[in-house]
Amino acid sequence: MAITEIRRRITTGELPPEVSFSEATLCEELGMSRAPVREALIVLNQLGWVTSQPRSGYLVAPMTLNDLRDLYTMRSLLEPKAAAQAVRQIEELPDEAGSLSDFSANHDDPSDPEWLNRHYRFHRRIVVVGLNREMDRVLSEVLLKLERYFLIDAVQRALAEEPLAHHDLANAIVSGDHKAAADAAALHISQSRVLVTEAILSSDGIRSMPLSRSAGSPPRGAAQ
Ligand SMILES: [Zn+2]
Repeated sequence: MAITEIRRRITTGELPPEVSFSEATLCEELGMSRAPVREALIVLNQLGWVTSQPRSGYLVAPMTLNDLRDLYTMRSLLEPKAAAQAVRQIEELPDEAGSLSDFSANHDDPSDPEWLNRHYRFHRRIVVVGLNREMDRVLSEVLLKLERYFLIDAVQRALAEEPLAHHDLANAIVSGDHKAAADAAALHISQSRVLVTEAILSSDGIRSMPLSRSAGSPPRGAAQ
């Protein structure tokens, strides 16, 4: 599907942030006709992955620390609730319990190229098990958008040094304690936010960025 492929290219940086592209070039690169690509771009524009630009095609959404903060804020609002809801359903869904435990026990290795997909499915499964479709719709977008930040080199290095373990969260859900599940989800999201944000802030590109006043606010006392 065009939307999946365009999203994949944005996530991996093949379509880098703040770069413009035309619908025609993209159709050519994807080997697809105009209609499905246009439809996909309309949806991705509504979802905030790209911005349509008059007469010049589309611009890939920038990656900013503000956006990163907003994505984690959404996670921290939704996922503890989802984890608590999942506890109420999990007893009747032994396969789902097995999948959550299987990821946390056997596949939670960020150096595995499949980890990001599995990580997405793990977090999403918690919401799906909780049977909240609206939450799933919102959270799946949030998780997909976060993947761009997970693929930053500095974040990859931080994940390799200090993997974000998921067993406490999986165990809390499977053990049937909804308060423990909500707490474990909140803690996991907070640890993830700190790891990703600090990795970005300590990366060379950011550290060597000049810090200056914005042009609109001259220093106090400056000559007019
Ligand atoms: Zn996680």
